Amino acid sequence: MEAIVQNLQIIEQRIQSACDRSNRKRDEVRLLLATKTVNPERIRKAFEAGYTLIAENKIQELKEKYEDLKDSPHTSHFIGHLQTNKVKEILRYDVNCIESVDRLKLAQKLQNRLVYEDKTMDVLIQINTSFEESKFGISPENALDLVKEVAKLDRIRIKGLMTIGLFSAETEKVRRCFKLLKEIQNQIIEENIPNVEMKELSMGMSGDLEVAIEEGSTIVRVGTAVFGKRPYPDSYYWNERN
Ligand SMILES: *Cc1c(COP(=O)(O)O)cnc(C)c1O
Repeated sequence: MEAIVQNLQIIEQRIQSACDRSNRKRDEVRLLLATKTVNPERIRKAFEAGYTLIAENKIQELKEKYEDLKDSPHTSHFIGHLQTNKVKEILRYDVNCIESVDRLKLAQKLQNRLVYEDKTMDVLIQINTSFEESKFGISPENALDLVKEVAKLDRIRIKGLMTIGLFSAETEKVRRCFKLLKEIQNQIIEENIPNVEMKELSMGMSGDLEVAIEEGSTIVRVGTAVFGKRPYPDSYYWNERN
């Protein structure tokens, strides 16, 4: 249990020194805790330490933990691949932002359901900046068109972009992914599209958060470095299609 609090202190220092190095203020970067496979009791340890932004990858886990965490004040994002047939369900669990919108069909389904329930939803557009087939996300060359189309859906509020960087020990290759996300953000800003805000760049994880912050990240998504190794390989979360 104590490990979570200690790990959070270490992450806090890493974020702070990356901010210092890149002349950014600490409050420009939010720490989001990726809580897949982490039980509510352990998640609450992080809440107690003051970190209340969390995210799940799977609707099933969101559902399982929902009742348990409902009365502990926190903010919840969704960062996993979202199937169109789960849109109705995700709206039951007080998710504040879906970071993984990567196709028009999904956005349209979401819009329809939001109209029906008279709600709105913040989203980020997920972009595949590493060009790896195993990762979800719209390709960089199609990102602007997708943003323009999603912007027409009035119940959906685009707040920025999300990406998963290349898994590589070569920092400069990882940095290229984050630079690309920043470039796409600037390109979208220049277009001045109504109903589109481009404040958020969700990029950086346990292994590469410093590089991401140097390149302009506003949300770093950290799991392993706070909660320890997960029992499943990441491919379980990123490659499956059902
Ligand atoms: C699990 C996950 C993270 C956090 O990964 P770690 O390497 O454990 O920090 C970030 N983003 C997404 C989309 C994830 O699924």
